[in-house]
Amino acid sequence: MKKLQMVDLKSQYEKIKEEVNASIQEVLDTNTYINGPLVHQFQADLEKYLGVKHVIPCANGTDALQIAMMGLDLKPGDEVITADFTFAATVEVIALLQLTPVLVDVDMNNMNISLDGIRKAITPKTKAIVPVHLFGRAANMDAIMEIAREHNLYVIEDNAQAIGADYTSKDGSKKKVGTIGHVAATSFFPSKNLGCYGDGGAIFTNDDKLAHIIRGIVNHGMYERYHHDVVGVNSRLDSMQAGVLKAKLPHLDTYNKARQDAARKYSLALGVNPNIWAPTICESCDCHVFHQYVIRILNGKRDGLLEHLQAKGIPCAIYYPIPLHSQKAYADARYNEADFPVTNQLVKEVIALPMHTELDDEQIKFITDSVLEFV
Ligand SMILES: *Cc1c(COP(=O)(O)O)cnc(C)c1O
Repeated sequence: MKKLQMVDLKSQYEKIKEEVNASIQEVLDTNTYINGPLVHQFQADLEKYLGVKHVIPCANGTDALQIAMMGLDLKPGDEVITADFTFAATVEVIALLQLTPVLVDVDMNNMNISLDGIRKAITPKTKAIVPVHLFGRAANMDAIMEIAREHNLYVIEDNAQAIGADYTSKDGSKKKVGTIGHVAATSFFPSKNLGCYGDGGAIFTNDDKLAHIIRGIVNHGMYERYHHDVVGVNSRLDSMQAGVLKAKLPHLDTYNKARQDAARKYSLALGVNPNIWAPTICESCDCHVFHQYVIRILNGKRDGLLEHLQAKGIPCAIYYPIPLHSQKAYADARYNEADFPVTNQLVKEVIALPMHTELDDEQIKFITDSVLEFV
């Protein structure tokens, strides 16, 4: 059996080596390391793929979130609502900008931000909601946009884990996640569904004015050379990473399908066990692109399972072991444990199994057998 890895980027690279190497060689041959033609080509390709008017590449996904928020008219003390159960980057940038993060619980059935939680957290100071499409599954954007419209709030999608996923609205129309809110941020970290070979990120928006503001912010607040109209940052996607991404983008749908296929096989094997909650696979849409394949162990044996799998050479991980509201950096007297029953339960039950584009049946069977024999 091929060696098990949480993410197997090497096998994936072997299959697209020629395209990727040619892109990197082009950067070397043309000496266009920063803002080269490949950056613009990738940007245009991604705009077309997503069906969004503007993609603004930047240095990483955390920057993308920060810059998206800088582009909106938010003032220190404004409240921004986001999920308690996510990667810290989401809340970190809110705090860095001296906005007030307001963490709310998530839903048990999809692990995404709770609509009730959002409604209860809204105050006159609330200015924005940041839904995270966690583990690759689209959040309930119809309802979130409706709440936002009602209360005049911005919606900033954290799309670091769900690039390529579709969201189907109540009216049947389909959109790529990350193109529904006012603005979205994504990450091209190597292990993400569309990953480069270093750091990278991008901001998406359909708003021409906001896109213009953001293009200046990523470039030191410059709209005209050496005229600094706003305080900006230096956040660039370099040409080599853009070259890698341009070569990989045409494979994204195939990659996401491979993840869904692996997830289906996992869930078929694991879902029958009453001690395991396994994600359901939607057969009629692409609302979940399985950045991570996360199951819940319902009989208190999660930590034992982690050790059992690791002892058998099966990499696995806990995303995420500590709720954000319990982290020293983000604790706040306003939070009450009783407001986070779902996150508090999830952190004890979740375990992520290997998930990438190169998993084969033999590996999946070994992993599911190993889980079942212990649970
Ligand atoms: C990866 C990730 C980020 C940050 O992306 P980087 O490129 O690592 O800065 C932000 N939010 C979520 C949910 C992520 O998974």
